Amino acid sequence: MLIEPTSEQNTGLAENLKKCPFCAELIQKEAILCRYCHKDLVPPDKSKKWYYSTSVVVLALLTFGPLALPLVWANPRCSLMLKLTITVVIIALSAALIYAMMGMYNMLMDQIRMLGLLPQFNPVC
Ligand SMILES: [Zn+2]
Repeated sequence: MLIEPTSEQNTGLAENLKKCPFCAELIQKEAILCRYCHKDLVPPDKSKKWYYSTSVVVLALLTFGPLALPLVWANPRCSLMLKLTITVVIIALSAALIYAMMGMYNMLMDQIRMLGLLPQFNPVC
């Protein structure tokens, strides 16, 4: 009797294989990228969380600034280079915004002082 070595019947071969959830082709069990459809096969419990989606991360960074950086660093979808780039950009932007805000505060206090609204108020800066 001759058994065709198809993927379903040959259990010896299929032991190291799994079915791709996207294209249903048999691929290596350890594969993180399907070689047929090139889809990402990182386990869903790690990368499919809603707070790791790009839109949520971008929104969190725009809303909370550097406070949202742990979300980037915990994200399994980002490469180390991308994480470092995002961190540097966010920190530089935050520093620039804080600097601009201090300048605006000083300008505002100068104008209030010039108007004579705060005669005995002496700001630290
Ligand atoms: Zn596939």
